[in-house]
Amino acid sequence: MNTKIEAVGLSIILPVYNDAQAVDQFLPQLFEFTARQSSACEVILVDDGSQHDLSALYQQHLSQRPDNTALQLIRFSRNFGKEAALSAGLAHARGELIAMMDADGQHPIEVLAQMLTLINTNSVDVVAAVQASRDHESFLLRWFKRGFYYFMQDTNRYELKPNAGDFRIMRRKVADALLQLPERQRFMKGLYAWVGFPTLYVPFQAPPRQAGSSKFNYFSLFELALVGITSFSQRPLRWISRMGLLVSFMALIYGALIVGDTLFFGKDLAGWATLAAGIMFSAGIQLICLGLIGEYIGRIYEEVKQRPLYLVDKVWDSRDSKP
Ligand code: UDP
Ligand code: MG
Repeated sequence: MNTKIEAVGLSIILPVYNDAQAVDQFLPQLFEFTARQSSACEVILVDDGSQHDLSALYQQHLSQRPDNTALQLIRFSRNFGKEAALSAGLAHARGELIAMMDADGQHPIEVLAQMLTLINTNSVDVVAAVQASRDHESFLLRWFKRGFYYFMQDTNRYELKPNAGDFRIMRRKVADALLQLPERQRFMKGLYAWVGFPTLYVPFQAPPRQAGSSKFNYFSLFELALVGITSFSQRPLRWISRMGLLVSFMALIYGALIVGDTLFFGKDLAGWATLAAGIMFSAGIQLICLGLIGEYIGRIYEEVKQRPLYLVDKVWDSRDSKP
């Protein structure tokens, strides 16, 4: 059965990294959803170098899939990151509509159904889910995110929608546009904004994970934010020159004050402490700026190497199996 599925209506991409248990619970729910669709569907699992072999899980769910649904598993040679996994999913997807969602159950299927209806009934090319409430996030994280979106938004030609992530559904042409972007540093949120196309946003509330734990901590989020900013915005570079101007201006004023004090009031020169603080302050600022420029150079270095985004170890496809 279901060996020949030519035209695919809907592809669903699930990036998976050490989330076998969650996928095991999520796939049957997803199959229930695809079974209700009138067109042919495909579910693409991208195994982003998980420690445990997902092929057993793939075999196990293969027989349980509905007639209109194909199942594919793409295994990377190692962990390349969620962004690479999504890109691989896009490259393999054959659907007219392509959806991307987390494999841990945090992206509800009801919202996917809603997004599918919206894209079918509206003349938009993308429907993206936006995390509604951020109450559980700490003050620090929210502050950090606000700063991030400020630095990211360096042009008003396109808009980076805050809290809209990878949970989205798009038409084929949008996926093709994303695949055309050659950069190695794939900050997907930025790429979605960059390609444009009419987009509709749907608010949603992410439930807790079905199993396992989040792969992102403060440190990795910070790294991702840095990739985002340095690959999309030149604002930090402009800030460096502004900061330089400001510090030079402050030094000039301070110098004039000291000269004035000595000439007109005969005061002794200010002490060692001021000098030491001044030197350390400017040295610190210079190091920060060098580091920042280094980040940009690092990005250029990564790009010029032209390495592939990911390496595929093996692909399993339900359509390849003998009837
Ligand atoms: N993921 C991935 N590669 C990674 C990290 C995560 O493919 O290097 C997948 C993970 O399996 C999950 C999705 O990306 O399906 C979101 O990850 P997670 O739930 O850890 O992120 P959070 O929901 O906490 O933002
Ligand atoms: Mg999650």
